[in-house]
Amino acid sequence: MSSRFPKTPQRIVIKLGTSVLTGGSRHLSQPRMVDLARQCAELHRRGHEIILCTSGAIAAGRSQLDFPDLSNTIAHKQMLAAVGQTRLMLKWARFFGIYGLDVGQILLTHADVESRRRFLNAQDTLRALLERGIVPVINENDVVATDEIKIGDNDNLSALVAVLAEAELLIILTDQEGLFTADPHDDPQARLITEVQEIDEVLSLAGDSRSGLGTGGMITKLQAAVIARRAGSSVIIAGGDQPDVLLRLIAGEPLGTYFPAPSAPPENRKRWILAGAVKTGRIVVDAGAATALRHAGRSLLPAGITEVSGTFERGDTVSILGPDGLELARGIVRYDATSLQALRGCHSDEIPARLGYTYGAVAVHRNDLVIL
Ligand code: GLU
Repeated sequence: MSSRFPKTPQRIVIKLGTSVLTGGSRHLSQPRMVDLARQCAELHRRGHEIILCTSGAIAAGRSQLDFPDLSNTIAHKQMLAAVGQTRLMLKWARFFGIYGLDVGQILLTHADVESRRRFLNAQDTLRALLERGIVPVINENDVVATDEIKIGDNDNLSALVAVLAEAELLIILTDQEGLFTADPHDDPQARLITEVQEIDEVLSLAGDSRSGLGTGGMITKLQAAVIARRAGSSVIIAGGDQPDVLLRLIAGEPLGTYFPAPSAPPENRKRWILAGAVKTGRIVVDAGAATALRHAGRSLLPAGITEVSGTFERGDTVSILGPDGLELARGIVRYDATSLQALRGCHSDEIPARLGYTYGAVAVHRNDLVIL
């Protein structure tokens, strides 16, 4: 059988949604989880490096506490996650143990990928686990994650993990077989889309998820695909209840929706920029600057900036838009928002006179810039 992969992916992040782990019930399904652990172990035996991104903490907490009648507050959710995360990990440890594998828990928030030091630390831990053949099992640190540092859904989390781990493939298993041309519940003509090159062209097809337990719908899965692909990982969204789904996917069977990575993976510093949160900071550049960034690999100079919006500090990651308003690049700015506002359109020689100080001629250095 011919494979859909040009080269079989070795390092794979597997995201398991709550609905996959519960099989649609209110409890984590032991047979489901054992079966998934079995497939992961088989891939591991064949030499693949497997990283699990697991949801299900809140669902496990709810079931452990016998479905308490709680308000929908953050504190209550965090309480459920605090109880459930340990149950979830106990299960993973036990089920991987059947196949002779150890697991290691990593709990992340956005803050852990935003600081360069913490990003590198998390990478080191992941590598150390993988080198010893231990399966990293990752979830969001729901217990401490407040709005400012929250990733919010495990689809986006799994994309950040793929970026961190330099994974070749991210598999998102869910309760639907993949992305369809229409909602298959309503439209008998709905067809599964087997491959997507341009995510922009399919964004409008992503309806809301129908399952009640998890957080993400199809839209967060497509967001995840955008992030992971930028960092050079291919992505597959597939149904978690298909027999041997992981083994068949890695064998190249055309299950689910495949989003091949368009480009070679960027170097590590650029991966970190891509993993950072998109802050409010936006810089619009003129056509000349857009071409210089995109095609000539240049730094961004104040002269090419036409608009600055949002608040940001020197060292923050900002979004750089072309004159058409589309995001063109992301990069780390050398001046804060107020200073750049004052420097808009001006020649770099004038910086000291305008500001009374200078951090150099460029607004965003090309080494700190990722073209999207
Ligand atoms: N981190 C949450 C949990 O483990 C799940 C979030 C999600 O499903 O996207 O319960």
